[in-house]
Amino acid sequence: MSDLSVELTAPNGRKYTQPTGLFINNEWVKAKSGETITTVNPADEKEITTVQAAGPEDVDIAVAAARKAFKDPSWKDIGGRARADMLFKLSALIDEHKETLATIETWDNGKPYSVALNDDLGEVVYCIKYYAGWADKIHGQVVDTGPTKLAYTLREPLGVCGQIIPWNFPLSMAAWKLGPALACGNTVVLKPAEQTPLSILYLANLIVEAGFPPGVVNILNGYGRSAGAAIAQHLDIDKIAFTGSTATGKEIMKMAAVNMKNITLETGGKSPLLIFDDADIEQAAKWAQVGIMYNQGQVCTATSRILVQEGVYEKFIEVFKECVATVSKVGDPFADETFQGPQVTKAQYERVLSYVESGTSEGATLAAGGCPYKDVNGKGFFISPTIFTDVKDNMKIYREEVFGPFVVISSFQTEEEAVTRANDTTYGLGSAVFTKDIVKGHRVARNIEAGMVWINSSNDSDVRIPFGGVKQSGIGRELGEAALESYTNKKSIHVNLGTVL
Ligand code: NAD
Repeated sequence: MSDLSVELTAPNGRKYTQPTGLFINNEWVKAKSGETITTVNPADEKEITTVQAAGPEDVDIAVAAARKAFKDPSWKDIGGRARADMLFKLSALIDEHKETLATIETWDNGKPYSVALNDDLGEVVYCIKYYAGWADKIHGQVVDTGPTKLAYTLREPLGVCGQIIPWNFPLSMAAWKLGPALACGNTVVLKPAEQTPLSILYLANLIVEAGFPPGVVNILNGYGRSAGAAIAQHLDIDKIAFTGSTATGKEIMKMAAVNMKNITLETGGKSPLLIFDDADIEQAAKWAQVGIMYNQGQVCTATSRILVQEGVYEKFIEVFKECVATVSKVGDPFADETFQGPQVTKAQYERVLSYVESGTSEGATLAAGGCPYKDVNGKGFFISPTIFTDVKDNMKIYREEVFGPFVVISSFQTEEEAVTRANDTTYGLGSAVFTKDIVKGHRVARNIEAGMVWINSSNDSDVRIPFGGVKQSGIGRELGEAALESYTNKKSIHVNLGTVL
């Protein structure tokens, strides 16, 4: 045990070595800032450990390392096949260590262990493997411009990429950003969220083991206002990729303008889920439960606004309430039967409860939950799954992102009304439509203003499919082939084959 790592035993009995430093140039270092972050288990409110927190001076050092690595032949000239080999190895190493990584994720974030292991880690392993597969298939085009000229494009990496990620899916968000950035040959300075610093530090050691040269990936824990802002406004960073709140996304856009960085933003949502009279109500209720209650409701695409056609409104509420009561088992995130753990922090827990107060005072009907859930110890940031019905479009709980196990339900009469009201939001991330009429399903999908539409499901995320929003839900796309566009420039080369002036 050095002073930049600590031996820990997680609540499930798993022992492991937790790095606690800043990861720069494949080495663990102390923060020049002198700042630290102490992380808390949201299930019992006990401190887990303390890690270094970067300030602007640390960001400068990490960016210099990333710039040097970007220019170094050991990375710059190795080509896609070698990058693929490293990414395949990284994916295999994550798979090997997935129980430890899932344990850390559950401990630090509060998500159920079964979810962390099967969903988060399953996705992380596949995401890195998927982009390993792309690394040797990123190429330009020859564009036919006639016999006197050869014109072609090269796909070049952007350079040093700053990646700022949230706390709801720490490792997944890291994988979504690291996979395509590295496949394309960029170098990275990644800042995890201050609420969940631990799992990504463990990942850093696997990055070294997979063979990435020093400086290619640098990981700086730190606070948004210091480390995050220093990354967003750094003059030697070429791109910013951010996932988090819309308010912070706007701040980052302003800061990134200082040297006109390329940006990708994934921000908030208030995603609608529409249920038509002809829908399979049992299925709609099951998907609606997953769509809002999964991951404690802390999902940017959570279908948090349910609009039900009036013919099935009462029936849907009855079936949905029953489904939430049966499936949404709240409790110890390490217990097998748990569906819902604690909210990530006290601040998020209090935020969700403040929306309960708002909904009640604005006159919506509280149909379930709306209060803290206390287990036998009386500790932890648990909230009972909350359902508000008879919600009006002008209420705060209908308009604002709550980011918790909290759903609002309202009724509509016609398809036109449903689409108009679904679109009456500043957001445009996810959306879902339930109908047995395939023509109506596709028509509504076209008319909804959102980056993603699920027909007869909700929150079906797939590494192969582009992910992102319209309106104030973001700019650009992650995942799929689309992410390669977000991490490369197209350079055009014009070769004169005989035009004489
Ligand atoms: P946030 O947007 O403030 O934080 C996300 C990331 O941005 C973190 O790494 C944070 O350190 C960093 N950051 C914060 N301020 C920054 C700044 N000025 N400059 C640079 N980086 C900065 O989100 P939050 O405060 O953790 O959560 C607040 C709300 O955001 C939530 O209630 C939820 O509505 C939303 N949220 C959305 C997502 C998503 O996936 N879209 C994820 C987390 C939170």
